[in-house]
Amino acid sequence: AKTKGANVVEYYSDEMIKKNKRKMLLESALRNALHNNELHLHYQPKVNLQTRKLVGVEALLRWNSNKYGMISPGEFIPIAEETGLIIPIGEWVLKTACTQNKQWQDEGYEPITMCINLSARQFQQYNILDKIANILQETNLEPKYLNIEVTETMAMIDLEQSIEKLNALKRLGVSISLDDFGTGYSSLNYLHKFPLDVLKIDQSFIRNINSDKQSAAIVKAIISVSKSLDLTVIAEGVEIIDQIDFLLSEQCDEVQGYYFSPPVPSKKLEEMLTPA
Ligand code: C2E
Ligand code: CA
Ligand code: CA
Ligand code: CA
Repeated sequence: AKTKGANVVEYYSDEMIKKNKRKMLLESALRNALHNNELHLHYQPKVNLQTRKLVGVEALLRWNSNKYGMISPGEFIPIAEETGLIIPIGEWVLKTACTQNKQWQDEGYEPITMCINLSARQFQQYNILDKIANILQETNLEPKYLNIEVTETMAMIDLEQSIEKLNALKRLGVSISLDDFGTGYSSLNYLHKFPLDVLKIDQSFIRNINSDKQSAAIVKAIISVSKSLDLTVIAEGVEIIDQIDFLLSEQCDEVQGYYFSPPVPSKKLEEMLTPA
């Protein structure tokens, strides 16, 4: 007879089998997603808190699978990373987003910055710099209108290499954001070694700034570090006016979040752009 303990083990392994099965199905569907036109980009505004102007957008991947419907990036990005599919997908993201940004400029809107998430796997490619340079050339987008978002965790994998690559990006004229700041190792010791332009305060700190003294203190400290390192500081996940008020009083430069707009399709984003 089965003991209770054995049943518990069985329960977990059933769950694991189910999860693994879904992962395998998604993986196989993801292999055809690019080719089937199932991937598209949404764009989320970044707003200057003082002027309330839209100064940039973050490109965010969306996957509407023919077979399985909408799959969240939280689920499919890790699969894309593991399988290496993130390499062709990531290149498609770069190309599509740069093309879009150039198109908005050609249509006569005031130029904005296009911010793109780079995955660890992409960043580790030896020829990632050439790839980005080529895409800028192909799309005719001026490098200063491209911003690359990297995470601390990514940059720490091979510190020396990372610093070199980031410096090369800077020489290209591309700007760099440190994403999800505060959730990784967050060593202030190496922060100044990275040639950064922007620090993005992770949304987990913003969520509780009005209720939790520690979150508020951390956000204040990050803003203060940003100022002393001469970086632009942006708060992620800003949803309510109380958060805006706090960030304004602490002189945070920019915000991104549902308060101003969720990520939206290009046509919808276009309505928020300013004619030049
Ligand atoms: P992230 O880079 O930290 O992106 C911000 C996430 O916060 C996005 O989730 C965005 O939709 C969400 N968000 C924005 N404003 C708010 C808000 O006010 N409240 C809340 N609760 N959430 C907000 P999303 O689009 O689901 O993307 C999740 C993650 O997937 C991203 O986190 C990023 O790490 C990854 N990702 C998305 N697109 C790409 C891509 O093109 N390439 C790579 N490598 N990763 C991507
Ligand atoms: Ca990001
Ligand atoms: Ca983030
Ligand atoms: Ca994140």
